[in-house]
Amino acid sequence: MAPPPPSGANSAVARDIANVLHPYTDLQAHQQVGPVVISHGKGVKVWDEAGKEYIESVAGLWCAALGFDNERLVQAATNQMRKLPFYHAFTAKSHEPMIDLAEMLIQRAPVPMSKVFFANSGSEANDSAIKMVWYLNNALGRHQKKKIIGRLKGYHGITIGSASLTGLPANHRSFDVPLPGFIHTMTPHFYHGALPGESEEDFATRCADELEKTILAEGPDTVAAMWAEPIMGAGGVILPPKGYFPKIQAVLRKYDVLMVADEVICGFWRTGNYWGSQTLDIQPDILVCAKALSSSFLPISAVMVNDKVFQGLASESHTIGTFGHGFTYSGHPVPAAVAIETLKIYDETKIGDHVKTVGPYLQSELRRIFGDHPLVGEVRGTGLIAGVELVKDKASHGNFDPAAKVGIRMTKLCEENGVIGRASMNDVICFSPPLIISKEEIDEMLKRMRKALDELTVQLRREQIAVVG
Ligand code: PMP
Repeated sequence: MAPPPPSGANSAVARDIANVLHPYTDLQAHQQVGPVVISHGKGVKVWDEAGKEYIESVAGLWCAALGFDNERLVQAATNQMRKLPFYHAFTAKSHEPMIDLAEMLIQRAPVPMSKVFFANSGSEANDSAIKMVWYLNNALGRHQKKKIIGRLKGYHGITIGSASLTGLPANHRSFDVPLPGFIHTMTPHFYHGALPGESEEDFATRCADELEKTILAEGPDTVAAMWAEPIMGAGGVILPPKGYFPKIQAVLRKYDVLMVADEVICGFWRTGNYWGSQTLDIQPDILVCAKALSSSFLPISAVMVNDKVFQGLASESHTIGTFGHGFTYSGHPVPAAVAIETLKIYDETKIGDHVKTVGPYLQSELRRIFGDHPLVGEVRGTGLIAGVELVKDKASHGNFDPAAKVGIRMTKLCEENGVIGRASMNDVICFSPPLIISKEEIDEMLKRMRKALDELTVQLRREQIAVVG
């Protein structure tokens, strides 16, 4: 039997409410509602303090690729802590874990890459890459060529630069970002964005045309780089239309604008290939990764740059005397050792082959179980990333009023039914389970979530938020 839930003034819940300022939480409501306190995990599951089991349908934050326990990663961290618990990479200091990891990433890169810079989070890696782009164009004497293009609904993090790149209202509103010089082009979402009668190819062409118009309106000699997630994650698992990235990259090449792939979610087999860039046909000049790099057992992120970018950084740093950028924990040996072990596990266990089996199964089961549901507008995804968009009107693809908080209510019902889920803007239920998930676990996860969706349907019908049969 599970122990009774802890309560009283000294409970974890009470101490959390008293002391913690939570990311991505209604801070005022939290004072009444309180946290779900997770105590431990195993495989694709975690348990809360009361002993309730949950399947993690999003691997935490799209990240715990090997699930919530792994003895090899524990050993890798422990061994490294004993040998060299910290060293830095400033002023030409180095250590084996950082060297090995950089080499492994270069060997695995989707296109020839030259060097790897390490940071601790996706946001820091994107901020670092933004600064590298500016530094590079200063090196090249292109002092005006500094503007950065992101996309509406793109997510690149929350530091000042990466939040400026992000194209989601909640990350801008009241934070005084985006900074000047950050531009957002259209979301390449066929389901919502296509014109009547438009084919996917035509829609992709229109996205590329809009990008070109934006570059021309801004002035090509003022635009430095474009950032894109191969598949948008936090914006609602949005897959671009067929042919999108080749068309986008043709425009970028025409105006000498760098392509930066944000692989923070898509990297390391999430989309069915090692990199999302391979699935979506992107040839990045700069590639940013994090999350599954260490299966999120410890924080680490990386920026890979091609030789053209590296040569510019090298010459400018030589002129100045130093590359004046880096974090105390850039390439920290303990997360680097865990990342090395993670990449070895991916190779040795052939996790890619596993994703190629369970990924299509997840996709077809999602379509079978949710496709015809009266609340479901679109089921989309590839590999082990997917989105199920709940809509008010299937015919017009109309979303619910955000005030109805339909997605949040769905995640609440999922939790009651034993699944920790995630809803993005527009009530998209996101799926990004640990890569180790089995078919049986997928079955159990979807059974619980289908029950939650049916309960939601009853609620919405009762409250006349949804008029469904
Ligand atoms: N880029 C992408 C594509 C992401 O999904 C995220 C986080 N979800 C980030 C950047 C930011 O990463 P972090 O939260 O580690 O700063």
